[in-house]
Amino acid sequence: MIVAERKPMEELLQMTAPFGKILVAGCGACVTVCMAGGEKEVEVLSSLLLIERKKNGKELEARKHTVERQCEPEFIKDLDPRAEGVEMILSMACGVGVQYLAERYPKIPVYPALNTKFMGGPVQQGIWTEKCGGCGNCILSLTGGICPIARCSKSLLNGPCGGSENGKCEVDPKNIDCAWQLIFDRMKNLGKLEILAEIQPPKDWSYARDGGPRKIVREDAVL
Ligand code: SF4
Ligand code: SF4
Repeated sequence: MIVAERKPMEELLQMTAPFGKILVAGCGACVTVCMAGGEKEVEVLSSLLLIERKKNGKELEARKHTVERQCEPEFIKDLDPRAEGVEMILSMACGVGVQYLAERYPKIPVYPALNTKFMGGPVQQGIWTEKCGGCGNCILSLTGGICPIARCSKSLLNGPCGGSENGKCEVDPKNIDCAWQLIFDRMKNLGKLEILAEIQPPKDWSYARDGGPRKIVREDAVL
């Protein structure tokens, strides 16, 4: 899933300051799971904005609504009646959702309430970690299902770098496991260490960036 976190309150107050009527729009997908922009977070942020406005003696109408997913036009339609007449939309989705809202409402400023961080998942309640850097040309079959791009601090494809000690990464030995140690251990357990000894051709990064936004076209699904 996409992992995001709410922007600092100070920044959100500045963003919303010029507006008297806003829509706080949540997303029911990834950002709900990572507790950054779902229904509950929409309620909390709206209340905080209202409290701050009251303190300053300024009026604010904060409408609230959470759609199933902000990254699909079909679901965004639900926001239409709530967006009617608002001066700005504060999207609590990831950057993708913000952009879909901006496309749908060309006359209303759409601002991000979240900082979109990475693709990953939870390690324990309240802690999420990056798992995939979206390189577009997955090599997990060569690395035991552990991504060196997202999980090695230096994104090395030919690790370890020589700085790992006791399975920990030199960048932060307290908190980060050496991804290449994990890869080695896993490949050993799988009895596939010989794969690590094979010389691999240079990774084709053109899948990650080849001159514009990436696109997938599934001919069998195109109507
Ligand atoms: S190799 Fe690329 S696609 Fe596969 S998990 Fe890592 S970053 Fe993601
Ligand atoms: S110690 Fe391991 S995880 Fe850290 S940078 Fe070196 S190879 Fe990557």
